[in-house]
Amino acid sequence: MERDADVVVVGAGIVGCATAYFLARRGARVVVLERGPAPGEQSRKNWGFVRQQGRDPLEMPLVMEANRLWRGLQRELGADIEWVQGGNLALAADDTRMARLETWLPVAREFGLETRLLRARELDAVVPGLAGGWVGGMHTPGDGHADPEKTTDAFARAALAHGASLHLECALQGVSTRAGAVSGVVTEHGEIRTPTVVCAAGAWSARLARTLGLDLPQRWVRGTVAQTTPAPAVTACAVWGPGVAFRQRRDGSFTIAAGGALDHDVTLDSLRQLRFFLPNFWKNKALFRFHVGRPLLASLTAALPGSAARRRPLVWDRGLEPQPNPAKVRRSLAELQRVLPSLPPLGIARRWAGYIDAAPDLIPVLGEVPQLGGFVLATGFSGHGFAMGPIAGRLVSELIMDGKPSLDITGFRFSRFAEGAVGRPRSVL
Ligand SMILES: Cc1cc2nc3c(=O)[nH]c(=O)nc-3n(C[C@H](O)[C@H](O)[C@H](O)COP(=O)(O)OP(=O)(O)OC[C@H]3O[C@@H](n4cnc5c(N)ncnc54)[C@H](O)[C@@H]3O)c2cc1C
Repeated sequence: MERDADVVVVGAGIVGCATAYFLARRGARVVVLERGPAPGEQSRKNWGFVRQQGRDPLEMPLVMEANRLWRGLQRELGADIEWVQGGNLALAADDTRMARLETWLPVAREFGLETRLLRARELDAVVPGLAGGWVGGMHTPGDGHADPEKTTDAFARAALAHGASLHLECALQGVSTRAGAVSGVVTEHGEIRTPTVVCAAGAWSARLARTLGLDLPQRWVRGTVAQTTPAPAVTACAVWGPGVAFRQRRDGSFTIAAGGALDHDVTLDSLRQLRFFLPNFWKNKALFRFHVGRPLLASLTAALPGSAARRRPLVWDRGLEPQPNPAKVRRSLAELQRVLPSLPPLGIARRWAGYIDAAPDLIPVLGEVPQLGGFVLATGFSGHGFAMGPIAGRLVSELIMDGKPSLDITGFRFSRFAEGAVGRPRSVL
């Protein structure tokens, strides 16, 4: 374990590894800490959609620059990440949904992103043989998809190749401070002196921030995903329908996820910062399914005086793996076979679940925290941070090395929560 570093990055997901890669490329001494056995958590478990379509306008400059990076990423990282620029298609089953998609066209126009509304009869050109009685859809041909595990690993390897070091199964236990600034970190395997810590800890970022007295609003949503058995090639386009979202992988299998209500496992954390989340939960209550079970029990036990969680608040739940929702797996497969009737009967090769970290306004939190010099947040990607990972990493590296990122990130500042400047979610997907 190093004794000193210019920057310690907490979390080896795509955001942490991309940050380390861009920093190391510029000569910074970077150490990445990862509490799990492999780089990334959500970053290995996501659908793999790399989408500009439907985004909050604030995110557009970032995600369009990200798209440019993605197009050259295989070459830049020297790795096969199964990148396919096959477009993104959001399907509408009724006029209300179609009208909602249409509200996003001015955003696409403002930022010069090629995006079209398609009528039902035009859908077949994008997804041959698509069935399902659609009213239409929104198509962005420049979007793409990639393999989440290969991409996260490729960023980790590229960071190492440029001199960064990565410690797996080595959680951050605490951040040391002196005179209102970061002075080092305490890890499971020793201490490191550093003036800069990047918190890229995904769903655990709020917990980490809390150890420093910082109130970062964050909710967990459990996302279930499955991979089918292989099938003949149908489409290169990533498709997001109300009943199923899917993309076909290089081996012909599909990554699938069901639409419908979002699973929220109730824990003690669900009660925190309710003022930020309650209005949205209440307005969209049909969109959430609340589960009371093992995670709640574990969080109640964790709150007991003298518990392991009290002593080690950032690692006590390392063994708690989120469980996929079997009903969602069944529904998504049935819906895939309904909308692509030419497919042979498919089976499920594997299924998994991951916790998504969601901010109240569904946009990330990026930048240095005013209360604590040298503490930089890169988190809160709210279910769409795989696409943003490369640009988030580059901008954070610029912030640290140049004092200013090349794109404006003030809209993502941490202080927006304290200022009461948290807007309503503006993404349409
Ligand atoms: C089911 C699902 C589907 C998704 N689909 C898409 C999609 O199609 N497109 C898209 O753009 N986005 C998608 N997302 C969101 C996307 O995966 C995330 O926004 C993105 O991966 C976030 O990257 P990250 O590096 O911040 O987080 P993570 O990959 O979660 O990495 C954070 C890391 O920090 C580590 N960590 C936490 N605490 C500590 C500690 N104390 N010490 C050391 N390490 C620590 C964790 O172990 C973890 O590995 C999806 C997410 C899920 C779960």
